Amino acid sequence: MLSVVVDRPNSIGIREMPKPAPAVGEVCVRVRYAGICGSDLHIYRGHNPFVSYPRIIGHEFVGRIESVGEGVEAARVGELVAVDPVISCGRCHACQIGRQNVCRNLVVLGVHRDGGFSEYVSAPAPNAFRIPQSIAESCAAIVEPFAVAANVTARTGVLDSDVALIYGAGTVGLTILQVLKRVYGIRVFITDQLDERLALARACGAADDEIINTRNEPLADALRARGMADGPTVIFDAVGHPAILEEAVRLAAPAARIGVLGFSTIPSAIPQQELTKKELTLCASRLNCAMFPTVIDWLERGLIMPESIITHKVDFRDVAQAFDLAESRTAKSCKVLLDFSLAH
Ligand code: MN
Repeated sequence: MLSVVVDRPNSIGIREMPKPAPAVGEVCVRVRYAGICGSDLHIYRGHNPFVSYPRIIGHEFVGRIESVGEGVEAARVGELVAVDPVISCGRCHACQIGRQNVCRNLVVLGVHRDGGFSEYVSAPAPNAFRIPQSIAESCAAIVEPFAVAANVTARTGVLDSDVALIYGAGTVGLTILQVLKRVYGIRVFITDQLDERLALARACGAADDEIINTRNEPLADALRARGMADGPTVIFDAVGHPAILEEAVRLAAPAARIGVLGFSTIPSAIPQQELTKKELTLCASRLNCAMFPTVIDWLERGLIMPESIITHKVDFRDVAQAFDLAESRTAKSCKVLLDFSLAH
């Protein structure tokens, strides 16, 4: 089979690899579409400390079950599935208290073991979630990023009275925006420095006065001009620059929650007084914790719209071009899908 392999940092290409046989309790999936994520770019560039090379990357994908291992119902062959990349041990403290996305022995498909940028991939059967026929295959490819948004919004909680601020209109910010606007129906401000991304935010449901280009307008002024001098009551940092958390803590309303998704290793300078005075809650969120069924339900009910952030579908054999789009042409690209169908 052909796979997208990162051989070592800064070296990526299509390689002929042995097709995986499904192990006990696992399924083998013939991949249809897979989404390129910022974290795939980090692995490619050697900035992910958890990965070992060479690696078939990719953790956002959809495909059909082609074969099953021992102990898995044969009737599942042919099912269209989205695969949750989070594999946990079930025994450690985090797993025992239902927080298996931060399992001590966490294995993530496409990071710690081979992932979905491949004609075939194997995964534990319980991680493969059936996709109803009403959902387009391309939309089902990006259940995972919406699961990330579902996770962080579950971590912060969302109140009817909340007014939200999202930093960054990339995939993470835009999926959170859709969840807040279309599932919870609250007012949401979203920032970016690219007008093209803010146009996508509009397509995802933000009103004209809810988008803020922080290149043109300082954020505190923009919020004040929009009647938000008291500060947002829930904030999401979908950029991850250390200075953003510092600003978020300053801008937050009393009793606000801040969703933290970044992976920066640079410390943020946060005065304890700001946290304590306003009794802020920082809610870190990693990957997703059993959120695939929730997201598939939202898709089925038409609440979220993956198609409004998918900007490109590229034959997987043109992976170099697809990565260039995702990495360097961020004004014209958002979610780039690799299409594996042409190979079959
Ligand atoms: Mn992702």
